[in-house]
Amino acid sequence: MKKLILLSIILISCNSNVKEQHWQKGNLHTHSFWSDGDDFPEMIIDWYKKNDYQFIALSDHNTIANGVFWYKIKQSDIENNTLKKYKKRFGDWVESKSDSTGIFVRLKTFEEYKSKLEDSNKFVIIRSEEVTSSFENKPVHINVTNIQEKVNPFKGNSVYDVMQKTIDAVNEQREKFNIPLFAHINHPNFGYGINVEDLKKLSGERFFEVYNGHPAVHNEGDDTHIDLETMWDLINISYYDNNKPLLLGLATDDSHSYHRKSTNLSNTGRGWVMVNSKQIETLSLIEAMESGNFYSSSGINLKKVIHDEKKFKIEIDPNKGINYEIIFMGYRKEGFQVEELKRVKGTSAEYIFNENDLFVRAKISSNEIKKNPYREGETTQAWTQPIIINN
Ligand SMILES: [Zn+2]
Ligand SMILES: [Zn+2]
Repeated sequence: MKKLILLSIILISCNSNVKEQHWQKGNLHTHSFWSDGDDFPEMIIDWYKKNDYQFIALSDHNTIANGVFWYKIKQSDIENNTLKKYKKRFGDWVESKSDSTGIFVRLKTFEEYKSKLEDSNKFVIIRSEEVTSSFENKPVHINVTNIQEKVNPFKGNSVYDVMQKTIDAVNEQREKFNIPLFAHINHPNFGYGINVEDLKKLSGERFFEVYNGHPAVHNEGDDTHIDLETMWDLINISYYDNNKPLLLGLATDDSHSYHRKSTNLSNTGRGWVMVNSKQIETLSLIEAMESGNFYSSSGINLKKVIHDEKKFKIEIDPNKGINYEIIFMGYRKEGFQVEELKRVKGTSAEYIFNENDLFVRAKISSNEIKKNPYREGETTQAWTQPIIINN
């Protein structure tokens, strides 16, 4: 029975590749007052809803936004007019009280903000948590999308051990509830906490952030640390050689700051995923992501991402006056690295698979300077997921 279901999922996802594609935009990494974000959940969700996203997950540190939490208004909130703006937008929905120690606002729980702002088949709110652990001074942050029960941070005897324990707990939860939910490794280069060898050893891990919009995450690495795209390829060579499913790359905001825009702050709208799913509902979106039927973006929109057993085709939805480059990258038989297979300047490109190709992905870059970048001079990019070639 399980095999039959799996087969039909594969068939559906293959079919959807040749039929019309429906791209649903989402961000899986966001913070609110439930942890260290600087706004109320509903205000944040409202921003994503108004800015053409179809799904959002608030992934606060070590909480799933349940229980009673009276948040105390801070001086910085007064300066940002945070409560004023919240009351203006949500009126009587807001619950506040004050005493001699200050003003308190009850944060709405996940169930409350979801029922208030979700819009059937238009906008979906997925439950999430950023399970925030560490080993010695190294941060180990793992998001769990569609989490059902809080996962507590883990202690362990290495970075790898902490990660594997978290992933095992997530996969156990998935079995227990029998619904799709997944872990994704956040910002490996944040504090240079997680290295490529740690990630290669993991089992049961499917997603990581190849792009995160927080200014402290070092997506590009530095003189002594590799960039996340190179890391992604090295992990996938190892996963491929060891018969593990390939790691899929996400782009996220990791937004914390909602009142001022600056390269020094983690703002909204910097990185997102585009999921090919006709239905805008949690299970369809997760199933599409797990089958690799999505791409990640820091500003480039794609019209089509099509592949069959012979070729891989990319079509960009271009912005006026911008130059694009589509690069097909692949791992080949007898190869020792992911290499550039074909580079095309323009808004569409096709790559015919070579008999030696083992897996191939596409990277799209441009000369468009981002308006509110996470680092000065950042240009927009997009990444499709690696596909295994069945030679
Ligand atoms: Zn984090
Ligand atoms: Zn975060």
